[in-house]
Amino acid sequence: MTVSKRIIIKGLVQGVGFRPAIYRMAVSHNLNGTVENNNTGVIIFVEGDEKDVANFIENIPVKTPVASSITDIDISDSDIKNFSSFLITRSTSQSNEVTEVSPDIGVCPECLNDMKTQDNRLDYAFTNCTNCGPRFTIIKDLPYDRPKTTMDVFPMCSACNTEYTTILDRRFHAQPVACNNCGPHYSLHYNNETIDDIKSIINLTSSLIREGKILAIKGLGGYHLACDTFNNTSIEKLRFVKNREGKPLAVMFKDIESAKKYLYINEKEEELLTSWRRPIVLLKMKKDISRSISIGLNSIGVMLPYMPFHYMLFESLSTESIVLTSGNISDEPVIISNDEALNKLGKISDAVLTYNRDIHNRTDDSVAIVINNKSRLIRRSRSYTPSPVRLGLVTEGIFAAGAELVNCFCIGKGDQAILSQHIGDLKNLETLDFYKESVERFGKLFRFKPELAVMDLHPDYLSSVFVSKMNVPYIKVQHHHAHIASCMAEHMLDEKVIGISFDGTGLGDDGNVWGAEFMFCDLAGYERFTHFEYIPQPGGDAVSKHPWRMMLSYLMHYFGENATEEYPYLFTGINKPELLTVKSIIKKKLNCPLTSSAGRLFDAVSALLGVCMNSTYHAEAPMQLESVANCNTTESYEWNNSDCIGFKPTFAAIIDDIKNDVDISEIAGKFHNTVVDTVIQTVIKMRDINGINKVVLSGGSFQNSILLKKVEVQLEKNGFEYFSQSVVPSNDGGLALGQLAIGAKKRQLNLIK
Ligand code: ZN
Ligand code: ZN
Ligand code: FE
Repeated sequence: MTVSKRIIIKGLVQGVGFRPAIYRMAVSHNLNGTVENNNTGVIIFVEGDEKDVANFIENIPVKTPVASSITDIDISDSDIKNFSSFLITRSTSQSNEVTEVSPDIGVCPECLNDMKTQDNRLDYAFTNCTNCGPRFTIIKDLPYDRPKTTMDVFPMCSACNTEYTTILDRRFHAQPVACNNCGPHYSLHYNNETIDDIKSIINLTSSLIREGKILAIKGLGGYHLACDTFNNTSIEKLRFVKNREGKPLAVMFKDIESAKKYLYINEKEEELLTSWRRPIVLLKMKKDISRSISIGLNSIGVMLPYMPFHYMLFESLSTESIVLTSGNISDEPVIISNDEALNKLGKISDAVLTYNRDIHNRTDDSVAIVINNKSRLIRRSRSYTPSPVRLGLVTEGIFAAGAELVNCFCIGKGDQAILSQHIGDLKNLETLDFYKESVERFGKLFRFKPELAVMDLHPDYLSSVFVSKMNVPYIKVQHHHAHIASCMAEHMLDEKVIGISFDGTGLGDDGNVWGAEFMFCDLAGYERFTHFEYIPQPGGDAVSKHPWRMMLSYLMHYFGENATEEYPYLFTGINKPELLTVKSIIKKKLNCPLTSSAGRLFDAVSALLGVCMNSTYHAEAPMQLESVANCNTTESYEWNNSDCIGFKPTFAAIIDDIKNDVDISEIAGKFHNTVVDTVIQTVIKMRDINGINKVVLSGGSFQNSILLKKVEVQLEKNGFEYFSQSVVPSNDGGLALGQLAIGAKKRQLNLIK
């Protein structure tokens, strides 16, 4: 019997070779009909034998391209139109509901092969197909068609056009399709000369790297600065010119085999490293690589090649690994314009490698870590943005501004949350401009009109200031409630849970600086159950650069003013006048907001052990403390629990251990266990009180792998159902998702005045 069906598919189905795949399936099942893109997704009409149609439908989720993802399939009966063949028809209809935009996809093996075998693509560094290549970074508007990308200035040659229009070709409707005869090209600027021939470029680039030089290289979402991973002198020079003192630098290895020589890589980590998203993965080192790569840490950020050029370069390089760190100076956004690269990066590097296709949307390399066999994003950008998160709540028209540091914002479309790429620290003027520009671009790309905005409780965050000038109604959301809501949104939880948020800083309802919060909460509201004890934070935010000041504050709080005289050996290396100044501001309570922050506690203990007295980048002290900790230790310290969670016995016991020359790795391990213990004891108490068994973990401190791993294991042992973040960072980069979810829930419940 002949039947006719209309099938509407939503999700990530455009720009990923979806229609050709449908075409091939339809033809192989002897079906006639049409498939087309529109703003909301893909519409298919099929006619044929009932059984063939059923088989076809069954195959859709299984046989579609690797980078696609289906969120909805709507199937309905349709009138028989007696189609005589199966056709891919032109994109039609415009509406404000938009389809997903694909993130960028690492080059595929077929394209790498074409670069060795296809006449017009021999050594062509911009080879791509419907399964791979740039997407979000080159798109200017929807629907995703070549004239709406930065490929618009490259008219296709006839060979490319044939592939582009041949339904069964791998490049059918691959918008960035190009070859040596028609597409973009690299140029190397070296010694006042410009070299355009790709073979000469590769040869010279690899010899410059071998000689220890620093190069600026244009990547997919922005420039990188590169040098040899095994040349410590070059790395030190790179740090100096980039004004990046201590923060770890990411490296790219030639392939998974060479990476395995230097790093511990388990199955899950390998899967992540080799996935089409090609994130930077944080991995433990087997042996030292170069002293200055990842100072004071036992792990390093590693990625594998994802652009054709990377593969070509490694074929000619003698080293197995290069540093590839973002091409910017200090905290500025990564550079994307060729002129700016030549001007700014040209001054600090020995050569600049550009190409003549514009990057429209800037992205940094994404960063992930595997904890408890689950991948967790730490920075969500290239190859992840702008994939949405589905909420199961109406989000349309809601704008969530995010935090101030490691900012990401978020817009609501339908029932989805679309997070921006990693923006950065808004206190930097150029980064604030990038924020404003990206808000505008997301608005245009996704046909987004803000009706409601959500900001952090902190009125001085530049993201909050931005909202207050937006001219739409807005609500304020407490920082740690937003963290927990972010994790809830990721898991589509819409109920009362036990929420734990551990991080560096966030303004609380009482005007204090919160950061280790235990809450009963749902998306609409929260009740603070307990927290870490309030400790003065001398000098306010500035304290995060000086962990020893937090140590001093803890010691004075627990052991009185004479702590400095009583334990002089804890203060070795600290400038005496500075010590006295900080002591006096604590005593006089001058600029000493109270904090319950977990991050500040880790800072204090890191300083106490002499691991990190002063830090040169965000969260350095806790990261180094984690690095030295023996995670196999099972012992822990005492702590106390009266009004809130206090650490006087912990500090006393740590000082005893220091006096008794206990190994610092042991002490650090015991300290981590102590914090785990506070979490477990507290949630057990909370469950006893109101029977809630679901525990939600969020906040930047849960990027600490020892802490998260042990907390999850203990929650499991104690029969809890627990949720932690994976697809969105648990740090402030994921905050906007929580803000958006809270806004959506409050709007649904009519709680917005
Ligand atoms: Zn490809
Ligand atoms: Zn061509
Ligand atoms: Fe936070």
